[in-house]
Amino acid sequence: MALFGKEIETMHDLFTHLMRDMYYAEKQIEKALPDMVEKATSQELKAAFSDHLQQTHEHVARLERAFELHGQKAKAIDCPAIDGILKEAKDVAADIADKRVLDAGLIAMAQAVEHYEMARYGTLVAWGKELGHREIVELLSKTLEEEHEADEKLTDLAEGSVNVAAAEGAHRAAAE
Ligand code: ZN
Ligand code: FE
Ligand code: FE
Repeated sequence: MALFGKEIETMHDLFTHLMRDMYYAEKQIEKALPDMVEKATSQELKAAFSDHLQQTHEHVARLERAFELHGQKAKAIDCPAIDGILKEAKDVAADIADKRVLDAGLIAMAQAVEHYEMARYGTLVAWGKELGHREIVELLSKTLEEEHEADEKLTDLAEGSVNVAAAEGAHRAAAE
């Protein structure tokens, strides 16, 4: 809390705030992904999560570079939104017994994370353009593109195989 006035005054301050929020979010995602790699049963899904973990290290590094370009030290501030999404993912995963159903659940939770990141990076790119931060925009656009690709990859996996396997016997209990 600021003692003298509000901490965010200018658009530049707000941009900094959002970068710090994303820096925190990426670091939490970095911590959460190994668990999802482990919990996934489909080998393709395991590979998708572990590929995205590698990309996430890169996303953290890009934000550090962006802070540098912005003339600031990299700093994270709590992001209750990503904490909530990751907590829900953990809780739901803990409640699913059937491995194939769990895979479908993991994809759904991961896509919520990707969409959150896409929303945030989309805003950072738009604001960065407005503020004339050309190099930062270039860096974060690359990350935005990778989040988008990760999301599409998950949709392909879900619709191509995981959901099909998960839905097999979905109504078994009801029919018996
Ligand atoms: Zn600025
Ligand atoms: Fe990311
Ligand atoms: Fe991501």
